[in-house]
Amino acid sequence: MNDSCCQSQIDAGALEERQRRVLVVVLVINAVTFLMMITAATFSGSSSLLSGALDNFGDALTYALSLAVIGATCAAKARVALFKGLLIFGAALAVAVQIGWRISNVETPVFETMGIAALLNLGANLLCLRLLYPYRNSDVNMTSVWECSRNDVMEGFAVIAATLAVWVFGSGWPDILVAIALLALFLRSASRVLKGAWRELYPELLPS
Ligand SMILES: [Zn+2]
Repeated sequence: MNDSCCQSQIDAGALEERQRRVLVVVLVINAVTFLMMITAATFSGSSSLLSGALDNFGDALTYALSLAVIGATCAAKARVALFKGLLIFGAALAVAVQIGWRISNVETPVFETMGIAALLNLGANLLCLRLLYPYRNSDVNMTSVWECSRNDVMEGFAVIAATLAVWVFGSGWPDILVAIALLALFLRSASRVLKGAWRELYPELLPS
């Protein structure tokens, strides 16, 4: 999986009307998928669904805030990025706590609920990829959204693999391991966004 991070700000002000509309549609798909994944994670007891939901949350928030700060000053944009970084970091910590709890009480998630949610999630990710496909080379912002969407499809397959392994082995461990991997990827990009925003706002407080 490459390093391109879903959470870096998009300069939505530079987008054409048509591109902005696609961004809004992708934002709505991510928000709906987030709610679906949280619900399914609760009912199935799956941590990988929860880790996956985190990414949908981060993406929806990124696109919403990118659209919200069109025309704002650089300082205002950096403050919004910092706020977003803290918000998704908090959400990631909550998921980490849930995973920690799962490790101390390993139970097998409900395979059927997990499978349906994993398929819906992959379907939503593929739909976003399809919507963004015509814009993949149009400019740096849309290319970054496209790359993020491609990563999401990979993550969608990882959750499918977790579901299959849960079913084959009748164990909760594959679910926990995939959840940890997805969370680690997410935390890495979240910390980079946070650091970038912090550096922009308080350059004197951060060496290098
Ligand atoms: Zn993403």
